Amino acid sequence: MRGAPVLRQFTTTHIRDPSLPDHPSSGMSFSRDPVALAGQLALEYLRCLPARHVGTRATAETLRRELGGPLPDTGHDPAGVIEALASGVDGGLAASAGPRYFGFVTGGALPAALSADWLASAWDQNASLFVASPAAAIVEEIVAQWVLELLGLPASTGVGLVTGCQMANFTCLAAARHAVLERDGWDVRRRGLRGAPPVDLYVGAEAHATLIAALRMLGFGADEIISIDTDGQGRMMAAALARAVADRTGPAIVCAQAGNVDTGAFDPLETIAELSAARGAWLHVDGAFGIWAAVAPARRYLTAGFERADSWATDAHKWLNVPYDSGLALVRDAAAQRAAMSSSAAYLERREGGGRDPLDWVPEASRRARGFALYAALRSLGRLGVSDLVERCCRLASLMAELLRAEPAVEILNDVTLNQVLVRVHPVPEPGAAEESDALTRNLVERVQREGTCWLGGTTWHGMAAMRVSISNWSTTEEDVRRSAWAILEASRQVRGDRTRQ
Ligand SMILES: *Cc1c(COP(=O)(O)O)cnc(C)c1O
Repeated sequence: MRGAPVLRQFTTTHIRDPSLPDHPSSGMSFSRDPVALAGQLALEYLRCLPARHVGTRATAETLRRELGGPLPDTGHDPAGVIEALASGVDGGLAASAGPRYFGFVTGGALPAALSADWLASAWDQNASLFVASPAAAIVEEIVAQWVLELLGLPASTGVGLVTGCQMANFTCLAAARHAVLERDGWDVRRRGLRGAPPVDLYVGAEAHATLIAALRMLGFGADEIISIDTDGQGRMMAAALARAVADRTGPAIVCAQAGNVDTGAFDPLETIAELSAARGAWLHVDGAFGIWAAVAPARRYLTAGFERADSWATDAHKWLNVPYDSGLALVRDAAAQRAAMSSSAAYLERREGGGRDPLDWVPEASRRARGFALYAALRSLGRLGVSDLVERCCRLASLMAELLRAEPAVEILNDVTLNQVLVRVHPVPEPGAAEESDALTRNLVERVQREGTCWLGGTTWHGMAAMRVSISNWSTTEEDVRRSAWAILEASRQVRGDRTRQ
């Protein structure tokens, strides 16, 4: 079996029982406990995580070879399966839970949240109805109140624990669709969208792709969207929205953003809230990671006005560092959320006076009890811990920008006000054409990924190649940022050296 040396050594010296290579499981008597083995493998993985090559090394072909083949007719010993799985996937695992993974916007897993998530699997509760799991239902109820308190939103706000911000956007916008059409005398639950009054959809030009996908799943095509221009940081321009809503009436939804996925910039929510109110529009805010700035006193100014929205979509698996998958759909008009989401059938037993039925607030019916991990995350951090986590990541992003900017070839493209840094490399001493900077920046991203001290991704920002750095992990330290900045600068010297040698 191939795999990281540590894993190989671990599996051979501590676990491997040579008498049981491919033991058929039909008899269901195992000499090794697969759950205990999984626990050991997980602990070992976590112990080595900060030291791992942060990127991946296995190719798709290697992974297929290690893990694939025809489905066997007979089953195997579960511990053997776990051992082979852990070894087979090893080279294809990104150290994305670790301290120097700066790709996309990716949080890690807080120790308490991870542990609770393991228990959620062991308990295997169906968090659909109160009667199916009173524990899961009540924990969700508690988490919902804690989240609303943290963000300073009304206690009567509807809360759904969904898989991520994609589904949070979907859930919130389903509630929005229901409410704005209902105000116009149209019951979308009964009549659907065919023949419905048209809904004006005002969306910032740099809205996240998942917001557009959510609208699509709700029956609103891309061509129906009224795109609102954005500025140099990706913020919706309030003046452009004002022009777009002028003299319009009828059902309307405005979709704003708290935290641009590249720059971290916030739409001017206060003004957008004014304009939405004047237009009689539902205001939705996609705050997948940015919304948590509301908890950190020094960053709260960025979110000013967000509390005036009608719905908020966010993630717990990004900045809150809860394991995947975990998102939150928050809707001021709880009745609209229930109307859009809840389902009923005779056998789905509702117990009056018991507790909240989780399925009333989300698109799913049977579902994982993801409230346990959120509960553990919030309880282990407390309000101050969440605030510190946000503030620390923002300060580390500023430090990263400062360290990189010290190199004359490096340009930081965004105002670093949150946890995101956008980096571009230029030829020095003589500035070259934009295409040269594009090529250098793309080569830099590739080289940094291959080198393995840290991992970050590339993007095209306003027509320019750029490298994205997102600092969102609870365990990232100043030392991690200094080491990574050094590795990035060293790689930038190498790509520029490659260029002059050509
Ligand atoms: C990540 C992100 C999303 C999508 O969230 P998922 O958790 O991937 O579903 C939506 N909006 C923004 C701004 C994001 O950063």
